Amino acid sequence: MGRGQRLCIEWSRRGKSMNDIAGHPSTGEATGPGAVRDAVTQEAMAQEASAREAVELGGVNLSLGRGAARVHILKDIDLHISRGEAVALLGPSGSGKSTLLMVMTGLERPDSGAVRVAGQTLLGLDEDRLAGFRGKNIGIVFQAFHLIPTMTALENVAVPLELAGIRDAQAIAARELAAVGLAQRVSHYPAELSGGEQQRVALARALAPNPAIIVADEPTGNLDESTGREIIELLFRGHAERGTTLVLVTHDTALAARCDRVLHIRSGRIEEPQVAGKTE
Ligand code: ADP
Ligand code: MG
Repeated sequence: MGRGQRLCIEWSRRGKSMNDIAGHPSTGEATGPGAVRDAVTQEAMAQEASAREAVELGGVNLSLGRGAARVHILKDIDLHISRGEAVALLGPSGSGKSTLLMVMTGLERPDSGAVRVAGQTLLGLDEDRLAGFRGKNIGIVFQAFHLIPTMTALENVAVPLELAGIRDAQAIAARELAAVGLAQRVSHYPAELSGGEQQRVALARALAPNPAIIVADEPTGNLDESTGREIIELLFRGHAERGTTLVLVTHDTALAARCDRVLHIRSGRIEEPQVAGKTE
């Protein structure tokens, strides 16, 4: 099963019970004044770190598959992405781009290394807390849209918000759909929408919680050129207007050049960073 499908199932399966988990900070079960002070200090340190860094990966290694089919996919990945930065990830097919995004979002756990997103260490979180954290802090856009077919456009955007314990989910969802030009399509099911419209819904879903980071994995890969361009404009607009950190996997070098930084990945390793030709 693909990772996007897994996430869809997560959204459709976890009911309102998620609110209980997502509503609480992930640090504190400790009690007593000392513990409270420690928690406060930790929180302050985490906030300081999160003020600077959106994504920090250190020494990340990941192998997937079993037995002889086991593949060492990510090799000693060190990566720092600042808040508000737009980073393009380029690399041949099979080089590990999607897997790297999945590690950043906590959908894959590395075999070794550290993963911090928006100041939060992901590795210590159990699945529920991870889902709660992801719901509030990370927006994901897939090539294959991954909308839930049995939900309307509005529900597809609102449900993750509800799961993240965000109030007024329906109103926010309606606003986000209007922002991507779909005010007239809120009651449509995915099968009743064009590919471009489905990806707009997915984009609205990703942006709706105002996440710290948006990761987009070849978001225009299933779209024609002009529809793809519209999606990219919406993606960059979300990044610019909200200051959202953007990590974009693409094969389009012109598109990559619009980002602040271009990273090249080859056989699971990040090559020397290059400065993109960003002018604005
Ligand atoms: P990219 O997105 O750059 O095309 P991926 O991250 O999807 O690459 O995959 C990197 C490599 O890992 C590929 O060789 C792929 O076949 C392999 N791979 C991906 N997922 C799995 C898995 N679940 N089990 C085994 N190998 C996998
Ligand atoms: Mg991929």
